[in-house]
Amino acid sequence: MDTVWVLGDQLNRRIGALASAEPSTHRVLLVESTGKLRSKRWHIQRAHFLLASMRRFAADLRDAGFDVDLRRSDSLRSGVADHVAEHRPDRVLATEPASWDGLQMLRSLDLPCEVEIVRSDQFLCHYDEFAEWAGERNSFKMEDFYRWQRRRLGYLMDGDEPAGGRWNFDDENREPPPKSGDPWATPQHSHLDEIDREVLADLRDLGVDTWGAEPDGLWATSRRAAMSRLRHFVDDVLPQFGPHEDAMVKRSWHLAHSVLSPYMNVGLLLPGEVCDAVQDAFDCGRVPINSAEGFIRQVIGWREYVWGVYWLWMPDYRSHNVLQADRRVPPAFTGDATTEMNCIRHCVDGLHDRAYNHHIQRLMVLGNLAMLHGVDPWEVTEWMWANFIDGAEWVMLPNVIGMSQWADGGKMATKPYAAGGNYIDKMSDYCGDCRFDRKKRTGDDACPFTTLYWDFLDRHRERFEKNHRIVRQVRAAERLSDMAEVRERAVEVRARLDGGTL
Ligand code: SF4
Repeated sequence: MDTVWVLGDQLNRRIGALASAEPSTHRVLLVESTGKLRSKRWHIQRAHFLLASMRRFAADLRDAGFDVDLRRSDSLRSGVADHVAEHRPDRVLATEPASWDGLQMLRSLDLPCEVEIVRSDQFLCHYDEFAEWAGERNSFKMEDFYRWQRRRLGYLMDGDEPAGGRWNFDDENREPPPKSGDPWATPQHSHLDEIDREVLADLRDLGVDTWGAEPDGLWATSRRAAMSRLRHFVDDVLPQFGPHEDAMVKRSWHLAHSVLSPYMNVGLLLPGEVCDAVQDAFDCGRVPINSAEGFIRQVIGWREYVWGVYWLWMPDYRSHNVLQADRRVPPAFTGDATTEMNCIRHCVDGLHDRAYNHHIQRLMVLGNLAMLHGVDPWEVTEWMWANFIDGAEWVMLPNVIGMSQWADGGKMATKPYAAGGNYIDKMSDYCGDCRFDRKKRTGDDACPFTTLYWDFLDRHRERFEKNHRIVRQVRAAERLSDMAEVRERAVEVRARLDGGTL
């Protein structure tokens, strides 16, 4: 008998080692690592999502006839060792993990039986293929990768040409929030059951440090429920996907976002089946091209690009910190202090309630302020990883170290995503009743984003004046007659952010 060891983010019968496993010849092992659970403060919905999804997957496999060893252990390593000692399998088969450390762990296992690492097909482009595509180039663009993926996978293609005559409909998808109306479908919810209650009780009994509102069924934790979320997205949400995706409005946390990323990131859904469903809806004329293209771009473009660069640049990538940022994540982000900044309050409240913010809230509100403030990029990564429902190291490193904190000096994004209050005001309805004034950079009511934005350009002037994409803003900062006051106010803003009094 062989053992197939399934990690917590590989919960799918159709991938890797499990794809060819049979109940008559294979036993399945899943390990809940208490060491991992106790290693950081998790959002309770995230910790629950991971454990409940594993337990339901184990139950599905048992229903399919497998003997499943779902065990709790101090670490993954000790869990597999205990399993092997107890069950004495001929071989342990494991699908390539999604993390660099996970792969090193598998390669260094010292077990009395053979360990076979099976190639992962959880992504549409394996990281070896990505590395081949990247080749010897010094720099490469997501857009080129995306078109290469479109061509080879055949999504939204009309022969050799892109459907609709264009590769990119982004210019139709960056609209500010609509002034009125709420065209967005309400997300589905599931009923919590005995498994959910057991997971929550176990988290309490294990003394896992958690934060945030308890689960209310928003996040699916089974294949069946995740498939239902996919159908709901394609039928009811996708036709609206696109135009307002970058907007931030108090009255809707989800807009027309798919909120399917957590399921794809743990295997409950596979990217191919998600894209196939979108392609089918487009082929039947049920969704416009800008919606279908905008969504397919996220999955086969951005998501797979981030996956590819993670593997290409690890392990050095996680230690990048070119701006030498060394502050802690502000207590206003972690719920340890309240804040009068409306935008931060709305994002952190949303995070507390749902373990979720959409990409612009992550990038242009939380990430932006963290970069302007000078938070250690690894600290930002760890905080987001533990708190966002769809967190994973491969997602967080390129998105946080690269995109959001510009800690890699431009490998991922050619310029830092830095913005003052004006951008947030344009894309949201947060600023209108905020106690701070987005236009002011000095004074007690100056918007902290605006103050820190100008101060950021000033502090990093030498580096950024060599960057043609941001040099214009650096020159504008140089022309400010009140820069001395801006610097003074920035010192005060930073101290108050650190102290949780802003
Ligand atoms: Fe945020 Fe500044 Fe707008 Fe207030 S004024 S919501 S702090 S960007």
